[in-house]
Amino acid sequence: MSIQLVRPEASAGRRRLRLRGRLLVSYVVLLALTLAVVAGALLLFLFAQPVPRTTAYEDLTSTLRTILSDYQLIGSRPTLAAVGRVFRELPTIAEDYSVRVVVVQVSSRSVIFDSAGSYQPGDILPLDVEPYTLLPQRRPLVTLRGEAVFGGFRDVDGTPWTFAGLVGLRQNEAGVGLLLAEQQARQTPEVVWQRFRRELALPLGQAALVGLVVAAVLAAFISRTLIGPLAQIETAAASVAKGNFSERVPEVGPPEVLSLAVAFNHMSSEVQRTQQAQQDFVANVSHDLKTPLTSIQGYSQAIMDGAAKEPSSAARIIHEEAGRLNRMVTDLTDLARLQAGRFSLHLTPVDISKIAAAVGERLMILARDRGLTLHVETERVPVVAGDGDRLAQVFTNLVSNAIKYTPSGGEIWLRSGVGKSGVEVTVQDTGIGIAAEELPRIFERFYQVDKARGPRRGTGLGLAITQEIVEAHGGRISVTSAGPGQGSTFTIWLPSPEFSTVARRR
Ligand code: ADP
Repeated sequence: MSIQLVRPEASAGRRRLRLRGRLLVSYVVLLALTLAVVAGALLLFLFAQPVPRTTAYEDLTSTLRTILSDYQLIGSRPTLAAVGRVFRELPTIAEDYSVRVVVVQVSSRSVIFDSAGSYQPGDILPLDVEPYTLLPQRRPLVTLRGEAVFGGFRDVDGTPWTFAGLVGLRQNEAGVGLLLAEQQARQTPEVVWQRFRRELALPLGQAALVGLVVAAVLAAFISRTLIGPLAQIETAAASVAKGNFSERVPEVGPPEVLSLAVAFNHMSSEVQRTQQAQQDFVANVSHDLKTPLTSIQGYSQAIMDGAAKEPSSAARIIHEEAGRLNRMVTDLTDLARLQAGRFSLHLTPVDISKIAAAVGERLMILARDRGLTLHVETERVPVVAGDGDRLAQVFTNLVSNAIKYTPSGGEIWLRSGVGKSGVEVTVQDTGIGIAAEELPRIFERFYQVDKARGPRRGTGLGLAITQEIVEAHGGRISVTSAGPGQGSTFTIWLPSPEFSTVARRR
């Protein structure tokens, strides 16, 4: 038999790409999200930061340098007249160079001049001078005189201003500072964005690149460890579908794939077992049906041809074989219904000892005819929820087998008694016994230890049916034998509701 496996039209290669691609896409999405969150957080952080004064310092310094140079205060030794000119023309300078000019007594912070007119001479200017060493000085500001100062102050109305200036330009007035000031830039999205692009875009880009490489390597590694075993399972499944039921896969890989491999191996061994059982079953049925049919055909032919010496004995054989066929068909139907779970048991409270005694009594004569002694030993036992007829069939099967497989002069015991949380029935004989290797197989359908046993042959279905009935009652059946010639003991255990009632009452 071969099963068609419907496979999607995808090659292993395409699937490999697909899984790897999916992993890669998930990693990249994750990476992009993480970077976006980080970038967002950094932008917010930058937005909350005050605008650095550095740019303003550079602008103001450059304006200051231009003024100093325009007024001949750089290069050659400046004359007192040149310095004086600067201090005389402060309003013009402020206007010409579009800058606020403030002159202040640095030590007392008192204003001498303010081109904006906000601070009057004598007012105290709230100066905030930055430590000189921290400033980004590119070129020395002044060659000959003065000391550069940088910082900020708040205007009368509270607006922040940034300044760059020179102290000590006028001789003997080391504390007088000439300051150029501009309003401190506000934090705007453009300013923040530009700072972000200038300072943070590159490291973030590098992080993304490293993340991308790591993601690609990880995706390749994970897909490899997953796809290898999965591809093996797929090949094996295709092979099983073609009828190669002995196919197994190595049980390797991560836990999920490993358990899939284990499940696959379990499934294919079960399929193999069922397949084998089915083949055996068909072979057995055809063989066991063929034997009686052949003899029916032979003997009836003989009768028709007038070749049978004793037609009545030929007719008897035909009758016996037809009876066997009938039994076999009944057994097979029973078994099929039992196994399909369509067998209805009529459960009522039954007394096992009574049933056993009745079966014993019925088979006593048959046993005696075969030269056997059948002992029936029953005890008072708790009731069992059971189907009386079916349980009688079970005991009859076991005792009939014992009679069948015990040579003349032997003994058989049919016992019933109390077992562990239930009731036990045992059928023991001093018969031909069963070899240890046969013990696990005798409950299989059609299994017979010795097939060629002549006219008293059974169907090989009795024990299979017995087991099904016992299990349908929630019970168990087991067999022991010390070996060939040593007799056998079959034990049936059935649960009794009385035990559970007692347990519940306690
Ligand atoms: P059968 O119709 O052949 O008796 P069963 O299913 O009842 O079929 O039994 C299966 C096989 O188990 C028998 O063929 C026989 O070989 C073995 N067997 C069953 N009962 C006994 C017994 N009491 N002693 C020895 N062998 C037994």
